[in-house]
Amino acid sequence: MTETLCFRNIGELIQADATSQPDVRVRTNCALLVTGGRVDKILRESEVKPANRYTRVIDVKGRAVVPGFVDCHTHLVYGGERKDEMVDRVSGVSYLEILNKGGGIHDTVKATRQATEATLYDQAKRRMKRMMALGTTAFEIKSGYGLDLETETKMLKVGKRLRQALKVPVTLTYLGAHAIPRPMKRTQYVEFVLENLPKFRGLADGVDIFCEKNVFTVADLRLVFLQAKLLGFDLRAHVEELSHQGGSYEAARLGALSCDHLEYATPKDIQAMHAAGTVAVLMPGVTLFLGGTKQPLVHSMLDAGVTLALATDCNPGSCPTYNMQTVIYLAANMYRITPGQALAAATYGAAKALGHHREYGGLLPGQRADFNILKTGDHRDLVYYFGENFIDQTFVAGRRVKGGKDPAGF
Ligand SMILES: [Zn+2]
Repeated sequence: MTETLCFRNIGELIQADATSQPDVRVRTNCALLVTGGRVDKILRESEVKPANRYTRVIDVKGRAVVPGFVDCHTHLVYGGERKDEMVDRVSGVSYLEILNKGGGIHDTVKATRQATEATLYDQAKRRMKRMMALGTTAFEIKSGYGLDLETETKMLKVGKRLRQALKVPVTLTYLGAHAIPRPMKRTQYVEFVLENLPKFRGLADGVDIFCEKNVFTVADLRLVFLQAKLLGFDLRAHVEELSHQGGSYEAARLGALSCDHLEYATPKDIQAMHAAGTVAVLMPGVTLFLGGTKQPLVHSMLDAGVTLALATDCNPGSCPTYNMQTVIYLAANMYRITPGQALAAATYGAAKALGHHREYGGLLPGQRADFNILKTGDHRDLVYYFGENFIDQTFVAGRRVKGGKDPAGF
């Protein structure tokens, strides 16, 4: 018989979907039934049947239950670290200056090419476990530190193995167009990426490109996306991060699932994203870490009805964090959005950026039972008390992966 778990005495149950946008829905004094790893029903507390009608009853004791966080933009498979560069940066050297001098991504590319698949796998697995201990239950992982066929494939294979080993949803993205490998010319490398795109079918779900001054142009984005679309890949793009190039407008018109970063996106770009249903993936941790001051037009995005998503951008150069709770905190306080808007962006919005919002991210009946029980009964604590890990227990497909001191002894 399929087992049914009953989580009762929930102080706040948070759900998010298209109808709650751009906020979450807060239900109080309720119970959550999980059957076969999926959300079965949400009951009023008074509707809970005697304990022997369920396989297990877990008393949540008035705490909040929120959907598992979806980290929809990460570079978590990489070799080496970049702490020396961080020291340069705090003395005033910019990210692009470091990159143009052959450092930055190029250092990570060197270390990633040198690392064996086993080493990359072990390191990335440790990172993902730490992310899960902080409440993340679904991931996106990009390649992009190989810039050659062998290493890009190695990175994506690591991602595939992590998906199987940790039994969490992992979306894989081929980011061949992340930087231009030395000594190649831009146009020559774009040709290389285009030629090799078919080899990533079956390994990557999507294709991404870093469209930026002195990196890849909007015309490159168009070439890569047209080809990727023909091959059936989802499209996502790093756009308008350090300057305005117009990549978000073009990406949206080509049907990109998400445009990511967007610090320099204009109202025209935002309108194009709204028209195409493209999700805006915001990563305030990058702004914090790189010491930037430019912020995206988040309120224009909300007014236009663009779905917001949040992600860590976990990577060794511009945002070495594993923590979606930090990102939620930063988003609310830097962008001046409400706790509910930040939480919706970290769950439903991020799942939509990956094209999986029907499968997870909302804690709706029928969806995967991926959720966190917080240490508090008030989800607003996530954006109020900062620096604390609020995760008490985490469940992935109804299976507990963290915590577990409930009185049922489960
Ligand atoms: Zn990125």
